[in-house]
Amino acid sequence: MSEEKSAAPQHFIRQIISDDLAAKKYSSIVTRFPPEPNGYLHIGHAKAICIDFGMAKEFGGRCHLRMDDTNPAKEEMEYIKSIEADVRWLGFDWGDHFFYASDFFGKMYEFAESLIRRDKAYVCEVPQDDWKEYRGVPTRPGKESPFRNRPVAESLDLFGQMRDGKIEEGKMCLRAKIDMASPNIHLRDPVIYRILHEEHPHTGNKWCVYPMYDFAHPLEDAFEGVTHSLCTIEFEVHRPLYDWVIENLEGVAVRPHQYEFARLDLTYTVMSKRKLLELVETKLVNGWNDPRMPTLSGLRRRGYTPAAIRNFVDIVGVTKFVSLTDVALLEHCLREDLNKIAQRRMAVLKPLKVTIENAAEIPDTITGHNNPEDESAGTRAIPFSSELFIEQEDFMEVPPPKYFRLTPGGSVRIRNAGFLTCLRVEKNSAGEVTNVICKWSPPTTEMKVKATIHWVSAKHARQVEVRLYDRLFTVEKPDGAEQDFKTFLNPHSLEVTKAFVEPSLADAKPGEKFQFERIAYFVADEFDSQPGAPVFNRTVTLKEAWAKTAKK
Ligand code: ATP
Ligand code: MG
Repeated sequence: MSEEKSAAPQHFIRQIISDDLAAKKYSSIVTRFPPEPNGYLHIGHAKAICIDFGMAKEFGGRCHLRMDDTNPAKEEMEYIKSIEADVRWLGFDWGDHFFYASDFFGKMYEFAESLIRRDKAYVCEVPQDDWKEYRGVPTRPGKESPFRNRPVAESLDLFGQMRDGKIEEGKMCLRAKIDMASPNIHLRDPVIYRILHEEHPHTGNKWCVYPMYDFAHPLEDAFEGVTHSLCTIEFEVHRPLYDWVIENLEGVAVRPHQYEFARLDLTYTVMSKRKLLELVETKLVNGWNDPRMPTLSGLRRRGYTPAAIRNFVDIVGVTKFVSLTDVALLEHCLREDLNKIAQRRMAVLKPLKVTIENAAEIPDTITGHNNPEDESAGTRAIPFSSELFIEQEDFMEVPPPKYFRLTPGGSVRIRNAGFLTCLRVEKNSAGEVTNVICKWSPPTTEMKVKATIHWVSAKHARQVEVRLYDRLFTVEKPDGAEQDFKTFLNPHSLEVTKAFVEPSLADAKPGEKFQFERIAYFVADEFDSQPGAPVFNRTVTLKEAWAKTAKK
């Protein structure tokens, strides 16, 4: 094993693949990521992507990207394009191995016919309303359909008529003949084909019958030569049917196996595509890529990095135990990455004017380190002047105990630029402090202070729009309760405001990430930033403050 491999945390899927390769069960491994193109990918999908593509990459195999379009739905090219972009953004590549499940409709149909010929499938006419009664419950066997033993030739003929559009929707279906007494309901003669008189985005009107997921999925895997079909735990009970399909498929060169892992579930987040779509359609968020959405496009726009997400998935690990992961862990991984890569800048959100009295002594510019964590990020010149903005909360006329920032008569260090000592204040008619008159001392001064505050030069600062994003929901499990998940939307999940920023930030490129010192990480919005006029999205605060205050 290479060093890289042994450094990765061990998990059961990695173990299985490694054992299979050691036993020469396969010459190389093939996995797949099979999204249904009916929505945007979210952080849960990222887990599946990192596992599917990650395992293939680690073991020198390949991973296919497959659009699971067995359900004829409206052409959603937008979804397909977004899926491709998101998988690439996460750092993975499928090469030439892009598939549509519908590519295999012909072969699936032939296989279904061959099952009928071998008396392993039959056309059933039991009305849908009665299915439940026939199916039974796990502890009680089901009842055989009266059509179960109809002649093979009759089923073949009817299946042909179904295909040709001669039978009404719901009147008939094709069922696998397995075992009506099986304790596994999925094996009680499951429906494998249904009639749908619908146009399909890729196959048009060619088909009036469409395969069910449980039938189609193993076939897609087999036809593509997938070796390890990795999916989420809810498919565990479907595995016997998966195996039945594969066992009955003749001429499979490589037999695919299905392995299940726990899906990712995050606090303060909803992950169901249906619910995310609802948020988009009811305009409770500004589209699928709203920076508050758990979609990959939303996270990207929020300022998340692929490295942070991949690292998060690694830390969460791969197990079979379904659990709720604290979103704070995702945020922690993000901070760790941004701390390394984001350049530092100064910005003031709620300005308070400071006037330096000894103006003649001050320099025109000072030098700031772009990233103390990364020497190679270099330095920049920051304009300095006798009028600064500091944050309102960094000055207090009557400070509480242990307040170490600026106070009348007190001193504070200002980032990169020496010290300020407050001489006096000016107030407006309402008694509010409007100007803090200070004496400036150079950085070389011997002065004992307990805090450093940030600042911008008032006449050089640019005003930009900042969007202060916060969590979308106020409770840990917005979709766990009986109440509608929308009742838990955080009314303060977005505050749009202005900030005064150092002039160099005016040139921020869309997608560029910064730490506004002492405030938070920000990213220049991908879409709304204009040359010279960036819009900044708050990515994540510097420390985890939210959960603590929210619980109070
Ligand atoms: P739907 O709710 O529409 O069934 P889905 O979330 O299952 O959607 P798919 O497009 O079918 O979406 O998912 C593609 C793949 O991503 C599947 O293999 C699925 O198991 C995996 N996946 C989906 N959600 C999660 C999740 N929360 N954690 C891990 N994997 C997930
Ligand atoms: Mg699904």
